[in-house]
Amino acid sequence: SDLLEMRNIHKVYSNGTRANRGVSFSVRHGEIHALVGENGAGKSTLMKILFGLETPSEGEIFYKGEKIEMRTPKDAIRYEIGMVHQHFMLVPSFTVAQNIVLGSEPRKGALSDHKAALLETDRLIREYGLKVDSSATVARLSVGLKQRVEILKVLYRGARLIILDEPTAVLTPQETDELFHSLRKLVDTGYTIIFITHKLNEVMSISDRITVLRAGQTVTTLNTAKTNKEE
Ligand code: ADP
Ligand code: ADP
Repeated sequence: SDLLEMRNIHKVYSNGTRANRGVSFSVRHGEIHALVGENGAGKSTLMKILFGLETPSEGEIFYKGEKIEMRTPKDAIRYEIGMVHQHFMLVPSFTVAQNIVLGSEPRKGALSDHKAALLETDRLIREYGLKVDSSATVARLSVGLKQRVEILKVLYRGARLIILDEPTAVLTPQETDELFHSLRKLVDTGYTIIFITHKLNEVMSISDRITVLRAGQTVTTLNTAKTNKEE
């Protein structure tokens, strides 16, 4: 069933740029859905709207069948939507664990003291194969490891729908394989992933469905899940 539906989204920026011209995009619970399009196709704008960073000029958003308003990122977090940006927002002098806990309301039911936070962080690291030392200083980590910290941060916050913006751009081929493995584990345990990319070929094997955007409009949605299972 649809977890998220963005219906007929339009966005005209104040300078007149029409970034989204009637985009419809729906995401099913428990899938990896790739949002593919060339630079300038309107992917980031659509995701900024979903995350409450931009206001749509027109269009509606439904979450779990209910019409919702995304006014600020706080709304997105309340709906358990998490975003992993291309540009990380980590404090370099802090440890991995400190960064994960920093500024986050802990997930529902989690204890908020430091020890409990560390245990929770280590559990997430083990469970999803996001191998990183929770006591390491972030400044010393490679970009690939920093990205894992960002992913852990949204998991710790309790996100259930996770948006990854061009996640492989900063990764080595081996790190890409590891990321894909972690994403599969996440959806297998009930998470839902939106994977934004301008490279169609890289998401053919990892995604269940692919939506292609061109010039601010939805071109098509492809179902790739069946092909994956037959491989
Ligand atoms: P809005 O129209 O939503 O008010 P702004 O024009 O104020 O948006 O720009 C918001 C941010 O986006 C600014 O940081 C600006 O530098 C950046 N920006 C402006 N134009 C572009 C563009 N063509 N492509 C990408 N980013 C842009
Ligand atoms: P993509 O993520 O697919 O590269 P974007 O949503 O970033 O696409 O951009 C879609 C169009 O909107 C582009 O023409 C871009 O220059 C423009 N754009 C993006 N952000 C802004 C902004 N803040 N103000 C004005 N134009 C923008």
